[in-house]
Amino acid sequence: MRISIQNKYNYGFSGRKAPMDEESKAYYRRTAKYSKYTDELPKWKFKYFEGIQEGLESFKGMKIKNIFALLRNLTVIATIRNCSSNCSDCCENAQKPPTPADFKRDKKLTRMMPWEQYEQTISDIGELSDRVGIDLLNTRSNWQSDATALFLDSDSIYYRSKDKNGVVKDAADAAELYLEKLKKRSLLITTAGVVQSDSRTQEVITKLNDVINKHPKRVQLNISINEFHNLMQASQKALEEGNIEKSMRYRELYTNRMANTIFQFIPAIENCEYFSILTTWLDKESVFKLKDEIAKKVEEKALKNDLELPAKLVKSLNTESGRKIRPLGKAIKLYGITDPPNADEMMKIAMENEIDLNKFYKILDANGQFYITNELFTSKIDNLRLKSKNLKTPEITKATKKFGAKIIRGELKIIRRMK
Ligand code: SF4
Repeated sequence: MRISIQNKYNYGFSGRKAPMDEESKAYYRRTAKYSKYTDELPKWKFKYFEGIQEGLESFKGMKIKNIFALLRNLTVIATIRNCSSNCSDCCENAQKPPTPADFKRDKKLTRMMPWEQYEQTISDIGELSDRVGIDLLNTRSNWQSDATALFLDSDSIYYRSKDKNGVVKDAADAAELYLEKLKKRSLLITTAGVVQSDSRTQEVITKLNDVINKHPKRVQLNISINEFHNLMQASQKALEEGNIEKSMRYRELYTNRMANTIFQFIPAIENCEYFSILTTWLDKESVFKLKDEIAKKVEEKALKNDLELPAKLVKSLNTESGRKIRPLGKAIKLYGITDPPNADEMMKIAMENEIDLNKFYKILDANGQFYITNELFTSKIDNLRLKSKNLKTPEITKATKKFGAKIIRGELKIIRRMK
């Protein structure tokens, strides 16, 4: 899932102690001279805070400076990993969810952050922030992001985990806990659409609407309309084979799914920041056309249900702003691009396009492992002192595809090759 926090960037820190891999070290050396933002933690006297973390299970045995450094710019808490939508522009290491046989074979394998860990972590971060008196995930005065995503290469709406009493907790429970405990922060929810026959997830959306309405203006909801989605890929493939009927069938499936998802969220739209994120690999007009088809279906549903569309939704569905992305990640294979740029070339492109690679953010994986990334390089850092650290998730090597989205502005050659 794309991490898209509007106009909000992430800044790094230099106080980390964890080892970096060779690639990251080289990167640091090369970019040090360009750095405006490889900044330090706030100039606090950490020794006066030492001990304030007492009794917080997640940070057991950790120094306060280390905790502050880890939490700073924590932009992703991956409650769920992997996704079956299989969009071809997803992160390079994004995989389909493990099968029941995989779970049987490897008992340590996990896709979901265990609820107990999530609850402990969020509660401990909230408690520590309250004790210190600031939002610890946002400790820079000109830092603009106050939102965290509960997903990485996944759609957080599908989060499910049992608590210690065997009660199933879902994405709405996770959102409610986050908004309750982290009072100074907002939450980013992005979905690529929910299958209509999936009544369980439709129920989660209804619950989520209540959570959003209970915490007005604290949730940013992105609906991703994406030509890289597997249904749209199938439609495109059928078109290339000359099978128009099959192509239209897949397109219908996709537009129905998206219209239905948008329609489900209507009761909460006025109480959140709402965006339709349009992504194309052809040209912007083609994704605007797709969006218009979905918008028409939403309007028809509203009419049928005698419902007035919220003004915010109408505005979003009329927006003609999308992004064309160069397929980095998995799509490199799909489009037969055999010469993706290496790290040095990407660095050069980034510099030429004034992409600030010194803006780092942190990811907390479902097993309590922290990563630091600037989207080009990703490194493991520390982990939470929780039971789940023994669980296995796919390693995060290329954190997001956002870099690909930015980089495209400077490099048009491969886009042309795509056409
Ligand atoms: S882009 Fe989002 S919806 Fe698509 S495969 Fe990746 S996580 Fe899933």
